Amino acid sequence: MDVTALNETTKIISQAQKEGRKALLEPEAKAICMEYGIPVTKFELAKNAKEAAEFAENLGYPVVLKIVSPDIIHKSDAGGVMVNLKSKTEVQDAYGKILENAKKYKATAKIVGVLVQEMVPQSTEVIVGAVKDPQFGQTLMFGLGGVFVEILKDVAFRIAPITREDANEMVTKVKAYPLLKGYRNTPPVDIDAIIDTLLGTSKLIMDYPEIMELDLNPIMAYEKGAKTVDARIILE
Ligand code: ADP
Ligand code: MG
Repeated sequence: MDVTALNETTKIISQAQKEGRKALLEPEAKAICMEYGIPVTKFELAKNAKEAAEFAENLGYPVVLKIVSPDIIHKSDAGGVMVNLKSKTEVQDAYGKILENAKKYKATAKIVGVLVQEMVPQSTEVIVGAVKDPQFGQTLMFGLGGVFVEILKDVAFRIAPITREDANEMVTKVKAYPLLKGYRNTPPVDIDAIIDTLLGTSKLIMDYPEIMELDLNPIMAYEKGAKTVDARIILE
């Protein structure tokens, strides 16, 4: 028997398929990222306010709370993200507020729980994406966060799988690349950490052709290392 068939990623994907879910939940997508060596924020899934507070105490403040629901894809739109929570009381209050907002947004939304995660410092934001192109198959995308991708469409694409050299080219090819090398008060970022994330994503989408879309957005890039703040995976 092939032991690789028993890994976490396979389990998560088959569970979602069994439940008829196309969009993986953030903790599922992040657990998959971890298995592929893609750094993500530390997180725990809380089922009640008391649990959320306990997890926050363990993670250390400040923390971020986010709704986990198969019926809510864009969490902020539903008032489902609360950042910079600095105490047990703030966390417990935020838990209640997030559930309340979710109910207001969609009364029938199934709530799995609330994700408690470390709040990571602001930095240069990059995006790694993947889409399954009907013609070219699994394709990777790289760009810098915010206006660079959304307005300027300053992105690089490559058909997967990619080599380290391809990944390096993707990163250096975008017009905003000089920002990654440091600019005025902005320190240079760890390009190797971004390249590793691209390579991990490439392997993931090749291993699982049933992944239709993947979106690591934003990834905070630091002088040392990087952290994926939000991860979405859509199955076909
Ligand atoms: P969604 O895209 O579903 O609305 P996100 O998980 O992207 O939700 O959260 C919205 C925004 O909140 C992020 O783009 C980021 O600016 C901020 N944020 C979310 N999680 C964290 C975190 N762990 N640390 C710091 N900022 C965060
Ligand atoms: Mg997001």
